Amino acid sequence: MSKENHNLRNTIVAGVAIAIILGILNVLWGWVGKLWDWFWSVVPIVWNFSLQLIAIPLWLLVALLVPTIYVLMLVVRAWLKSREPVGPQEPTVDDYTEDTFYAVTWRWKNWNGRPSGIGPLCPRDSTPLALNTYDSYLVCDACHTTYPVDTSSRERLGESVERLIQGKRISGKWREVVLRQLETESRKPPIT
Ligand SMILES: [Zn+2]
Repeated sequence: MSKENHNLRNTIVAGVAIAIILGILNVLWGWVGKLWDWFWSVVPIVWNFSLQLIAIPLWLLVALLVPTIYVLMLVVRAWLKSREPVGPQEPTVDDYTEDTFYAVTWRWKNWNGRPSGIGPLCPRDSTPLALNTYDSYLVCDACHTTYPVDTSSRERLGESVERLIQGKRISGKWREVVLRQLETESRKPPIT
């Protein structure tokens, strides 16, 4: 087949496809119009019918109203319940990311059930503390408070704190620490 014939065939196929699509759209549009006309012819009939006055015994009216009111009350109660503030979530061991050891604050991230990136902070102003490796103390550059520690080795101090954290994770004592922190957090005035 030559290139011209090929192009001609593609043009014919595209033309037929467009004709079919237009035909379908035309039929659909006709249906939409009929549905629209039918809807507006039915509305006044339903309206007039609903305006008819009928007499029903009072007991039937009450019998219909009671379940209606009951259902409405259930809906309102469910709506009010959905608006209630959600209570504090039960903490998990992964929420345990801060504690006090050697009289300073330590923060870390939990990674695969192990604390990582453990770092000391000044409990007064949350400034990261520096370790004085000569005299074995942590010092705050902001308030110049010193906190004595057992070792002058950064690695050993980190390992010691990691063991203390793991100990609390295993014994379950982490829970009271997290609960106390959540309690302190909730008593802080909201930021405005
Ligand atoms: Zn400080």
